[in-house]
Amino acid sequence: NAMIKKLFLEGKIVTVNTELSFESAAEIALEYNYIADEEEKVDIIEELLKDEEDPEDSLSPRPPVVCVMGHVDHGKTSLLDAIRKTQVTADEAGGITQHIGAYVVKANDQRITFLDTPGHEAFTAMRMRGAQSTDIAILVVAADDGVMPQTVEAINHAKAAGIEIIVAVNKIDKESANVERVKQELTEYGLIAEDWGGSTIFCPVSAHTREGLDNLLDMILLTADMLELKANKNRLARGLVIEARLDKGRGPVATLLVQKGTLKVGDHIAIGEVSGRVRAMLDHKQRRLKEATPSTPVEIIGLNGVPNSGDIFLATKSEKEAREITDAFKTRGKENLILDTKRGMSLDDLFNKMQEGTVKELDLIIKADVQGSVEAVKQSLLKLSNEEIVIKCIHSGVGAINESDVTLAAASNAIIIGFNIRPDAQAKSLADQEKVDVRLYRVIYNAIDDIESAMKGMLDPIF
Ligand code: GDP
Repeated sequence: NAMIKKLFLEGKIVTVNTELSFESAAEIALEYNYIADEEEKVDIIEELLKDEEDPEDSLSPRPPVVCVMGHVDHGKTSLLDAIRKTQVTADEAGGITQHIGAYVVKANDQRITFLDTPGHEAFTAMRMRGAQSTDIAILVVAADDGVMPQTVEAINHAKAAGIEIIVAVNKIDKESANVERVKQELTEYGLIAEDWGGSTIFCPVSAHTREGLDNLLDMILLTADMLELKANKNRLARGLVIEARLDKGRGPVATLLVQKGTLKVGDHIAIGEVSGRVRAMLDHKQRRLKEATPSTPVEIIGLNGVPNSGDIFLATKSEKEAREITDAFKTRGKENLILDTKRGMSLDDLFNKMQEGTVKELDLIIKADVQGSVEAVKQSLLKLSNEEIVIKCIHSGVGAINESDVTLAAASNAIIIGFNIRPDAQAKSLADQEKVDVRLYRVIYNAIDDIESAMKGMLDPIF
């Protein structure tokens, strides 16, 4: 009650049920001689979520998880639909195609899981929370249009995440299609076709005529083999929320991607502040399942709330354990199950992190008003690398700083350098929220100066 009074005096109206941010709670606690320890709470959550590596001999092969990326209108949705339809048997025709955010395809008796949220939103948003959802990215490039700005964005997102890229050159049914031109254009981004002397797999396809789809699936399986994807299926399940919604009849419904272990009907489960028990589990064809093994997407019901997509779910031994996890998150007052509690990279603490030895590489995203400036800024900044730190540009381009730049920066701990441009409104609010350091310049020398000073721990603070 003393707290309520204090906040009221500060002009904030609260009741005993109002949730306080940790900061204000800590501030108040301090005034009342309590020492609030945020560290401690973070520790509890980390302890609860700790995921030890499974021993090598417990691992068995799992199917690959694939997402589709590329420029708008190059055919991502059409391709996902066409692939899904290769699986619809005669007796199912006309029925199903319920969209649950992911589906499984069988090719050569092996399974492939597709995340059917086109674009890089899916995996980049999850990676921002420290979780990798995808093994292989299919980069869709229209054969009649070639490499476009979002193609480059997609490449850089996938590269930053260390995800294997397969190029699907789409719309080869069109008269104006030119597969060789796409291959040539992509060499500039380090994606070099085998017949051009490189090792990137290129699959010419048509989502319309379905030409090349079988080959694409074969190439995904080949790549998956090479990656030797494995998981332990004999443990409590753990994975990610792909999608979640409130269903009128069924209550909260979530599509989960099992990444480790086996999820079973009846399991207790915790997802951030949400918990429950798996009452029923359905696959992408709305068939009932009793168990779901690694790389399987399933729709579940039985949660006491709607979790966020990208959150990590954990199956637990008991209801008590599930509650402990959700309670810890409620206490912290965070909506998401953020594993990675470290803050984003900022120039201000570059020197300290270099000293601690926790950073050896400074990743930059460089945006400018014209291509000439992009190159000039890039060249001058990359030259600043020394024995202690390597300066790398993970993405660059012409135009305002957009949301995609910020998600990439957040996921990769990169700093954004803007030259003669500004962030758009969404990018700005996302950068604030994700604590991404965005630096704007009009003079190249000032950018060089800031990075040099930051490397020496002599950056002037900004007031
Ligand atoms: P997205 O924005 O990348 O998801 O692209 P869509 O799948 O919506 O496709 C954009 C447009 O290209 C639509 O009009 C599609 O019908 C068309 N399209 C997609 N794939 C093909 C293809 O293989 N051949 C031809 N001719 N058109 C295609």
